[in-house]
Amino acid sequence: MKQIQFIIPLLNEAKNIPLIYDAIRREITKNNIDIRITYIDDGSIDESWDQICQLSASDIRVKGIRFSRNFGKEYAIEAGLRQSKADAAIVLDADLQHPIALIPEMIEAWLNEGFKVVSGIKSQRQKESVFRSVVSSSYYYIFNRMSGLQLQQMTDFKLLDKEVIESYLALPEGSRFFRGLIAWLGYKEKLIEFSPLDRLHGETAWSFRQLVNYAKGTLISFSYVPLKLISFMSFAMFLFALLLGLQSIYNKLLGNAEEGFTTVLITQLIIGCAIMYGLSNIGTYIAKIYDELKSRPHYIISEETRE
Ligand code: UDP
Ligand code: MG
Repeated sequence: MKQIQFIIPLLNEAKNIPLIYDAIRREITKNNIDIRITYIDDGSIDESWDQICQLSASDIRVKGIRFSRNFGKEYAIEAGLRQSKADAAIVLDADLQHPIALIPEMIEAWLNEGFKVVSGIKSQRQKESVFRSVVSSSYYYIFNRMSGLQLQQMTDFKLLDKEVIESYLALPEGSRFFRGLIAWLGYKEKLIEFSPLDRLHGETAWSFRQLVNYAKGTLISFSYVPLKLISFMSFAMFLFALLLGLQSIYNKLLGNAEEGFTTVLITQLIIGCAIMYGLSNIGTYIAKIYDELKSRPHYIISEETRE
């Protein structure tokens, strides 16, 4: 009998914890599959940890891992994968936005069709403002163009074969962009569309600023285009300066050259901007290198339920 490990990262989802447990148990009994559930409490300040302990006390298949503070979902997923000994793992959100009903189909694709990765992709974006959905679509467009990977309206809702988990955990880098890295590993992947359900309890933990930082971080992890942009910009500036110079000479020859420093000043300003933009870009990469060099642990576990 194959064993499947459910990995559920969560932050303040006390109400959802028993619900998702029930839902998984209801759905998976049909499949003759041995399930394990790991909840990773990413620094919740509500009753999430108590809920996890209760479930874990009543069902030995349930395990809880508690972070000492909020380290972020990517690291919670990593912690879950690291302790998995199962033949495959399914990563899903605690808020029940990832339909459990899809899971039998995912397992089917893994067991019988030979896919190492099965990913849920959003057929329509969840209820969010027009602004947010435009920003998010543009992000995916830019990310795909810059990184050469093909991320669709991806989610972290994924089934991963043991082999994929091992490759993923062997990656040494500290920034863990789960969807991007799994795509980068390049295993045979099946995409299954779903329309995200509404969040059952609580609200999204991501602020817009966090999302922007996340987007920036992932782009820098997967692409050197921002660095290349600097040389492109300096080339553009050079062309501009050349044209301006030619125009000045032309005007001088005709004897109607302008007085004053306006042109000089504007040119200086634009060049200054370009240099600063370039520097900030380089700075971001250096910060990233610095982060990697520090090679701090990705998370700290403060408590665990017993095996
Ligand atoms: N989450 C987490 N750590 C965080 C933020 C979120 O573990 O720092 C969990 C959260 O509890 C949920 C999942 O990640 O299970 C997705 O988060 P959310 O629903 O807030 O994101 P959205 O669905 O809006 O993308
Ligand atoms: Mg959600």
